[in-house]
Formats: sequence, structure tokens, C-alpha cells
Amino acid sequence: MQPATASLRPQPPQTASGSHPRGLYLLFATEMWERFSYYGMRAVLVLFLTKAMMMDKAFASKFYGGYTSLVYLTPLIGGFISDRYWGNRRSITVGGLLMAIGQFTLFFSASNYGPASTHQLSHWLLYAGLGTMIVGNGFFKPNISSMVGSLYSPTDTRKDAAYTIFYMGINLGSFIGNTITSLIGDTGHPGDFRWAFLACGIAMLLGTAVFNWGKGKYLHTPEGEQVGLTPVHSGGVKGVYALLPVLLALVLGILWLDSAMFPTIAPLLGIALVAIIYMIFSDKSLSGADVQGIMVIFIVSFFVVFFWAAFEQAPASLTFFADEQMDRTIFGITLPASIFQNLNAIFVVAGAPLMAMVWTALGKRGAEPASPVKMAMGLALLAAGYLVMCFGVHNLQPGVKVSMFFLVALYFLHSAGELCLSPIGLSLVNKLAPAKFASLLMAVWFLANAAANYLAGYMSSLYPDPKSTAPAPTVLGFHITNLYDFFMVFVVSAAVAAGILFLISGRLAKMMDARNYPAPAPQA
Ligand code: GLN
Repeated sequence: MQPATASLRPQPPQTASGSHPRGLYLLFATEMWERFSYYGMRAVLVLFLTKAMMMDKAFASKFYGGYTSLVYLTPLIGGFISDRYWGNRRSITVGGLLMAIGQFTLFFSASNYGPASTHQLSHWLLYAGLGTMIVGNGFFKPNISSMVGSLYSPTDTRKDAAYTIFYMGINLGSFIGNTITSLIGDTGHPGDFRWAFLACGIAMLLGTAVFNWGKGKYLHTPEGEQVGLTPVHSGGVKGVYALLPVLLALVLGILWLDSAMFPTIAPLLGIALVAIIYMIFSDKSLSGADVQGIMVIFIVSFFVVFFWAAFEQAPASLTFFADEQMDRTIFGITLPASIFQNLNAIFVVAGAPLMAMVWTALGKRGAEPASPVKMAMGLALLAAGYLVMCFGVHNLQPGVKVSMFFLVALYFLHSAGELCLSPIGLSLVNKLAPAKFASLLMAVWFLANAAANYLAGYMSSLYPDPKSTAPAPTVLGFHITNLYDFFMVFVVSAAVAAGILFLISGRLAKMMDARNYPAPAPQA
């Protein structure tokens, strides 16, 4: 098998070596605080919705799915505005401030919590807070990710390592945020959730402040040219500010319609997909090899939907499970249900360097799997995680709580799967996308995440409720009557997706080679 790293066109290595530019650590710190805010809030969100806002689990799950789905959809707009009008820096600052405002709005919502019938204002504040964060994230997330690469010259071999360091910043932020919000928010008293949101708002302000403090000094190319400034011929900088309230109203409307009236987000995702396909494939200047590479991006993006839909059960059904069905007592201390999601960040931070070593060692022997094979492995590990869980809940008697071992094992396997799939997928998209469609194809990756998160919310809404008298829900003719059935759905879907991806990986590798191996230039 061709080693994946060797299947890339050889690039002249950049002479720069050793330590990374300081700008990387500035972006690391900024993203760390932002992920503190995002994951910290998300960790307690469904518990806040069910225990303080008195929503039922099915509604809260779909609401969570709608929110996280839109979080991945708005980068399409944020990326576009940044490329044309604002540049990375302004987008990150505005996005950061909006997200901080959103968190403070949630703080006010959670300060006067209760069911919608008696606490309408607090429910409107909840929508407003989440909507503001969705818009803010659209500006922040795509820009901070693309700035990492712009600190290096295009051929710098340290780029992959830079993204790994950055990924660790993401997970470090997630770990700190999740720990703090679980401890101060998920206390058993619904009035305490607000402290979690307050902490997340402060974290987001800190991130924005750190970024603004260091941007002028540290964000430049190796040649010293400032990066992320407002594009030179940008005329509509101010006009975009006027657009913000429109965007906010749109997002709020969609979130409300989707959760309270009828599915709105799913068709929207479909429209976005068709529009992107049209924009790319109507371009006649693409070579055959380009098209093959783009097809690979679309195909793997389809498979990752199955991954994230199952993976993102963490803050939803898996947190319901930890809360209600799992023994959370260790050394006499009962841990908050939401804190278990933290295991993912811990395993990723600890496992990322290990995984990099494994790929390098295999690469040296010419045995490193091609990217689609690694991604199939990720899906298989995900299925294995849910299989372990199925053992834990098999024949579960009413009133019996499951050992936390099963959830810990699940998170371990899922994190290993994430490391096989997520960074690999990101770099695959980066490398296969023709330069002129780089952002648009990154949007395809985000769109897959949006679809997956929406599906995750829907799946979590099927979490079996023993108290419910409604008929058992079905998925493709399969009845979900208990936890075993519920987790089995993820085992089967992820295992089937892994199997198919594995089977077609040879074909995908050939399509990738078409893009990466142009006919060799005639030797002089
Ligand atoms: N955990 C990573 C992040 O927060 C990747 C998440 C994803 O792509 N769904 O950026």
C-alpha cells in the first residue's frame, strides 16, 4: 500500500525549522479560550434545557441539534464575508465579541429560568443568546483555522505539526471549560447553570482580548508581511455591519422555526449542498484530476456525517445516560454527569502525539494507511465504542445503574477514532482542494458537520424514556425499546459506513493520486 504521506506531490522542504512562529501560540491561546466557551457551554446545555427550562428530552435534543448544526453552517457566510470584505482579524474580533454577548445573554436567561409557560422572557433570551453565538461562530471559526496556515510559507513542512498543536489548543480549551462549567453549573441546583454561562462569556472576552493584544506583533508571514488584514479593494466593510442584524434575525428565525414549527434546517442544508456543487462543477477550467480530487472530498464528507452524528451524542443522549443511568460515584464523591464529556479532550490531548508517532513509524516502513483507510478505521473505532456500551446496558434491570467503566471505554475508543478521522480529513481537504476552491471545499467539510449535528440531535431525541407511554420509535424499521437498541443503531450505522469506506478506499486512493501525481515533467 502506498504510504499516505508519500502519495503527496514532493514539495521542496522549507529551510525554516525548529520552533514555530509565535503567532501560532497567539492563535492557540485565542482558540483555547473560544473552545472553553463553546464546549463549556455545550457541556451543560441539554441539562440546562431539561432541568431548568423544563423542556422534555426529545425537544431539548432536537434544539441542541438545531443549534450545533447552525454553528457549522454559518462559517459558510463568515468565510465569504471575511474573504471579500473583512479579512481574518476583523472577523475574529467581531465573532468573538458576538459570542461573548451571546453567553452573557444566556446568563440572563438562566438567572430567571423556568418553563416557557411562565418564563417566556427567559426562553426568548435563550434563543437570542444561542442565535448570537451562532452568528459569532460563523465569523470566528473559519478565520482562526485558516490563519494558522497563513503564518507559514506554502511549502513549509511544519504546517501539519502546526495544526496538531492547534488541535491540542482546541482540546485543552474544551477540557478546562468543560471542567469548570460542570463543577460550577451542573451542581444539582438549576439556578447554578447561569454561572457556567457567565464563565464562558468571560472566557470568550479573554480570548478576544488576547488576540487583539498580540495580532499586530505576531501575526505575519515568515517574510514579515502582516496577515489577516482587511482585503485591499474591500469597499463594503461598513455595509457588512449593517447586515449583522439581518443575519441575526435570520438565524433566530430558523432556529425558532426548526424547533417550534417544522424542520427548516434540513432543507437548508440540502440547498447549501446543491449551491456548492453547482458553483464548483460549473467551472469549466477544472482539470480531470482536479475533479477526481473534489469527488474524493465529497465522498469522504458523506461518510464523516455518520461519524459525527454518533460522536456528537456526547453532550446529548450520552449525557442523559450519565445523568440517569450511570453510577457516577467514585471514592465517595458523586461526579457531575456533564464532566464525563471531558474524557474526550483528555484522550485527544494525550493521544495526539502518540498517534502522530504511530503514523510516522508506519510511514518509515512504507506501511502507513492511506487517508480513506484511516478514516474507515475511525468509524470502526466509533462502532467499537458503542458496542462496548451495548455490553454495559444489555438486559439492564430497572433501577440498576451501569458502571462508569463503559462510558470511559466508549470515550477512549471515540477519541482514538476522532484522531484517525478529524485531523486526517482536514488535511485531506486542504491538500486535494484546487486553490481557487479551497474555502468552498472547506465549507463542504463544515456542511457535513452541520448535517451530522442535526442528525445527532434527531437521534438523541429517540433516547428511550422508560416513563414515556408513546409507541417505541423506529429507525429504518428497527424498534428502539431500550438503551441496548438505542446504542446498537450507532454500532450498525458506523460499522456499515466503515465497511463501505474501507471497500472503496483503494478506488479513492487512485482518484487522489490522479490529483497528486501530475505527469512527471520531461527530464532535461
Ligand atoms: N473538536 C474539533 C473542534 O472543535 C473538531 C470538531 C468537528 O469537526 N466536529 O474544532
